Amino acid sequence: MRTIQRYHLNHPTEDYIDIAYNMAIDRYGNVYEGRGRNVRSGANGTSTANRVSAAVVLLTGPGDLNYTPAMLSALKVMAAGYHGLHVHKDWVGRGTVCPGPQITAAVRKITPGAAVPTTPSGEHPLVAIKRAVDAASRQVLRRGSKGPAVFWLQVLLNQRRAAGLRVDSDFGPDTERAVRDFQSDIKRFFGFSNKQMPVDGIAGPKTWYWLLAS
Ligand SMILES: [Zn+2]
Repeated sequence: MRTIQRYHLNHPTEDYIDIAYNMAIDRYGNVYEGRGRNVRSGANGTSTANRVSAAVVLLTGPGDLNYTPAMLSALKVMAAGYHGLHVHKDWVGRGTVCPGPQITAAVRKITPGAAVPTTPSGEHPLVAIKRAVDAASRQVLRRGSKGPAVFWLQVLLNQRRAAGLRVDSDFGPDTERAVRDFQSDIKRFFGFSNKQMPVDGIAGPKTWYWLLAS
């Protein structure tokens, strides 16, 4: 995200004031805020397009074939909140080859404005997930802990650390090892003391902080 932002801010001809994209989606389906959903876009190629549409970039790296199902799922959730969904070349025609045929075909299959998926509480699922993770991160979890907070700990360890844990909401020896490995990596990476980053297999505030920040 920073690389793209730097590229845009140093752009030789466009007078961008921020990253041009409103949102971004990575290979794992994580969604990042660019200039933000309700800010006029800078990436669609025409001023009309920028006025009426937000721009989402799929962080595939070069090429069209590197998109993932997780990316498309995230885009689908996002598109549910919009009236229409276009690809870049819908706006600028031959002015761009972006995106290529594979992504174009995949995006065409997504129905924008579909029933916005909601949770029983009526929240947008991404909001509900954030709330659940926030609540989980206020708990101290250790061997023997059980329940939804452990579920989110395991999901994060798998997603961010490829820990390969079975997500069973039960803090057993494998989860403990994964927490310890994570703590030890953070400690080594930042050169922390034992006090700054205890390697104890207990997910407390410091561990959660780095899990959510990394
Ligand atoms: Zn494009």
